[in-house]
Amino acid sequence: MSNQELTARWQGALMNNYGTPRLPLVRGEGARLWDADGNAYLDFVGGIAVNALGHAHPAVVEAVSRQIASLGHVSNLFIAEPPVALAERLLRHFGRDGRVYFCNSGAEANEGAFKIGRLTGRTRMVATDGGFHGRTMGALALTGQPGKREPFLPLPGDVTHVPYGDAQALAAAVTEDTALVVIEPIQGENGVVVPPPGYLKAARAITAATGALLVLDEVQTGVGRTGNWFEYQAHEGVLPDVVTLAKGLGGGLPLGATVAFGRAAALLRPGQHGTTFGGNPVACAAGLAVLDTIENEGLLENVKRQGERLRDGIEATGHPLVDHVRGAGLLLGIVLTEPLAPQAQQAAQDAGFLVNAPAPDVVRLMPPLTLGDDAVDAFLGALPGILDEAGRAGGEGRSGE
Ligand code: PMP
Repeated sequence: MSNQELTARWQGALMNNYGTPRLPLVRGEGARLWDADGNAYLDFVGGIAVNALGHAHPAVVEAVSRQIASLGHVSNLFIAEPPVALAERLLRHFGRDGRVYFCNSGAEANEGAFKIGRLTGRTRMVATDGGFHGRTMGALALTGQPGKREPFLPLPGDVTHVPYGDAQALAAAVTEDTALVVIEPIQGENGVVVPPPGYLKAARAITAATGALLVLDEVQTGVGRTGNWFEYQAHEGVLPDVVTLAKGLGGGLPLGATVAFGRAAALLRPGQHGTTFGGNPVACAAGLAVLDTIENEGLLENVKRQGERLRDGIEATGHPLVDHVRGAGLLLGIVLTEPLAPQAQQAAQDAGFLVNAPAPDVVRLMPPLTLGDDAVDAFLGALPGILDEAGRAGGEGRSGE
């Protein structure tokens, strides 16, 4: 099976809602991936921040194999141990009492938060421009990207969007009838946008003053991605009411969580929410393996260290296309001086590195948390050539217009 054949089969059998994907991949190990033609790549996309431990990590393989061989699925009519253990473990990393609702994706984790918000008895919600919370209708109602929303209007109502990072705009929008405010600590899909210092703390104060819940969407930033267990923990004085998780939590298996604290943890009553696969033992066993490995292998330290090495190394290239690098840990955006991120993505792929371009001028890096020195060095060594090639491709594109 070649790249071309697999792509043709994809086109004949799958809906084209993603556009044709870039590359058919057939095998992964750590930060390395291979396509159907046998070409090797270093993975700086990480399944969109999912593959926390890289591909085929022995801890995940072992945990999943052991669990599926003993108890694969029980439904929520019964209790299984892995979701209990995973919820306990998550709450330990939050360092707070709370309650966890398990689901299968980031959008679903935010749907859970949406329902918790409505159960406060208030209906209004406040979210941010450029924010991304998922593609289901409730999560899309919170998403602040007009192009994704418009084909599906009307969405579940009463959501006000305010500029991201602007505490004054937030204060003006949040009123006594606001059920919740939802914020990403760093906007991932919008191009790794980091809010100004003090923004989350201000959001906490504004929501506390009006009795609105503060929901932090850590689907992309959570579970070690930024060098903290959860990114809000890097912000002093910020204790959210709800945190939503997915992506890295399952280490490659579909697993999401709505984690609620204080009064928010008690709002869902029996019968008000659920999903068949929520808390699936196999997915939760993978989640436990991810959390164990992050702890046992000191991966939060590795994330900080490799994140710094990448950031410093990229800026040290002094390449004219590099404006600056933003983000935290191993969620980084290379902000370009020209809108050549798609060209840079293609040039990187041709050079054996998978990256992604969430905005025309931003190249996003979200490699496995296990990323080693060698992969960082290889990327930094190749980057000037990749950017030169992107510049050439951009020049050709322009002259051909
Ligand atoms: N929230 C954030 C911050 C995300 O980045 C994403 C996915 N990119 C989602 C929610 C939606 O997650 P999923 O695709 O698993 O539904």
